[in-house]
Amino acid sequence: RLVCVTGASGFIASWLVKLLLDRGYVVRATVRDLGNPEKTKHLHALEGANERLQLVKANLLDEGTFDAAVDGCEGVFHTASPFYIGIKDPQAEMLDPAVKGTINVLNACAKASSVKRVVVTSSVASVIFNSRPRSPGVVDETWFSDAEYCKQTKAWYQLSKTLAEETAWKFAKEKGIDIVTINPAMVIGTLLQPSLNTSCAAILQLMNGSSTYPNMTFGWVSVKDVAEAHILAFEVPSANGRYLLVEKVAHCSEIVKILSKLYPGCTLPTKCADDNPFVPTYTVSKERIEKLGLKYTPIEEALRDTVESLKEKKLLN
Ligand code: NDP
Repeated sequence: RLVCVTGASGFIASWLVKLLLDRGYVVRATVRDLGNPEKTKHLHALEGANERLQLVKANLLDEGTFDAAVDGCEGVFHTASPFYIGIKDPQAEMLDPAVKGTINVLNACAKASSVKRVVVTSSVASVIFNSRPRSPGVVDETWFSDAEYCKQTKAWYQLSKTLAEETAWKFAKEKGIDIVTINPAMVIGTLLQPSLNTSCAAILQLMNGSSTYPNMTFGWVSVKDVAEAHILAFEVPSANGRYLLVEKVAHCSEIVKILSKLYPGCTLPTKCADDNPFVPTYTVSKERIEKLGLKYTPIEEALRDTVESLKEKKLLN
């Protein structure tokens, strides 16, 4: 079975390509910079890659570039989207690639009669960024972020994911494409790619000798689970709609506590970066994804995988 993964050089996508190859799929993987071996050498090294991995160049902003990659594929996993901190021009760097990229990929899917389902990597960023109180109660898949709220708070990444998911649902309805979205929180775990991605960088920051941790609360989930959830969303015929993926919601102070148990000798931050009350935790529903068949990896294990991987890459001592 032939499937396509967009943005294959990325953290989550590399795991997705790995699990798809492990299961015998033929994988067409799109990469925007095919000339840079740093972006693809880890993909070439995957088991089964020699026989069943095809690399195709495609940039989210180039109209029509996904047509060749998607043609003939039964499933498409659209993961590519910019995720980094410190952008200067939100429209050009984040919003355009996220939204226009989604349209370009779905346009290619609409043209290819082979495509049965498209799994779109959305985010918790498209779910919880609104003025609604997160607790008491349970955050579930009926929640949607509010684009205006994201604009007011200059939350550009959250805005890019919110607009991209809205665009995906609207486009899919108009063109009659079967899409499913996966909405993960902060994804951590072993890095297959050579470079450091944004969500694993958050763990590196906590372990890098800083004396304080940020007063922030995030949902956390293992990258293996995120890749597995994408495959379930494609393989299970009844899969539909959105699937939140959060193993645990935890304040950074709690993550530090877990890290200090896992690595007792390590110097970890001891105090909060500000004097405000801790940003509260909240509950996120696990019901839909568990019904689909996912068994969550405990966050302790994902944290250990992350730290071991950072050490192996000499990003940590
Ligand atoms: P990475 O930064 O590792 O991967 C992003 C991928 O998108 C890279 O392959 C990157 O290519 C590609 N990309 C960015 N801009 C373009 C472009 N203009 N044209 C083609 N490709 C492009 O991040 P993650 O693996 O973490 O993120 C993957 C997806 O998961 C994204 O959609 C992200 O929003 C989503 N997500 C991530 C979470 C996390 O905590 N990591 C949480 C929730 C959702 P290149 O390598 O060339 O830069």
